[in-house]
Amino acid sequence: MKTWIPHSRTFAYLNWKQVEALPKDSTLLILPTAAIEQHGHHLPLATDTLINHLLLGKALEKLPADLPVFALPPICYGKSNEHIGFPGTLSVSAATFMAVVRDIGASLSASGFKKLCLYNTHGGNTSLVDVMARDLRAEFGLRTFALYGSGGVNFEGLSEQEKAYGFHAGEVETAFLLSAVPELVDTGAYTINYIAHVDKPELLRPENASATFAWLTRDIAASGVMGDPHPATAQNGARWIDQAAARVAEALQAMAQYENLYRP
Ligand SMILES: [Zn+2]
Repeated sequence: MKTWIPHSRTFAYLNWKQVEALPKDSTLLILPTAAIEQHGHHLPLATDTLINHLLLGKALEKLPADLPVFALPPICYGKSNEHIGFPGTLSVSAATFMAVVRDIGASLSASGFKKLCLYNTHGGNTSLVDVMARDLRAEFGLRTFALYGSGGVNFEGLSEQEKAYGFHAGEVETAFLLSAVPELVDTGAYTINYIAHVDKPELLRPENASATFAWLTRDIAASGVMGDPHPATAQNGARWIDQAAARVAEALQAMAQYENLYRP
């Protein structure tokens, strides 16, 4: 799998004597979590995993060289049962996903590490990552952090509709890949589908609301796209990657320097 994560930040390229010598209290490890799942007719199954490597890699490049931060090998398989029925989607159950994250947390704790960031770029994993960040803190005393996608950056030039409901294989993901791996985007195969409309607010929403309906892609989006990839450009993709990587880098730096300010 293609990656943009620098060799010098790749945990699995160290040998165990080098790991033994790392400052355990301050070293921040990042566990990327993503997915292998359908992304419409025009983007590859690995879209969420590639975006994870891309944003994390570009963010790590921006960190001061002496800050001890390393990326662990990713968990590429996520909880993608919303996309089952589309050939190529490879999903693990919530229990499996959480068990793997838990066991990696146990191993890191046994190696003496104290700080772990779960960096997730697949929406279907989000609630599990929230649960595991707290559980790893409770069970192993790890100082855990969760970080999602582009870190909440507000992308310039994106329509309100796409901001609200372009959440799968839409303009942003397409622009990212057009900039980073254009050979993997089939620009002649775009489809449009919106799960809801920003100018017609409903009480029950698909995401990010206090009253939601649980959705399966096959019920609501025949092509598998939720959003509109047509306006995506490589130029916007490059700009947004840089914006997102800067935000992710800021968050990682804050985590690396975090001390518990609220200890009584
Ligand atoms: Zn995606």
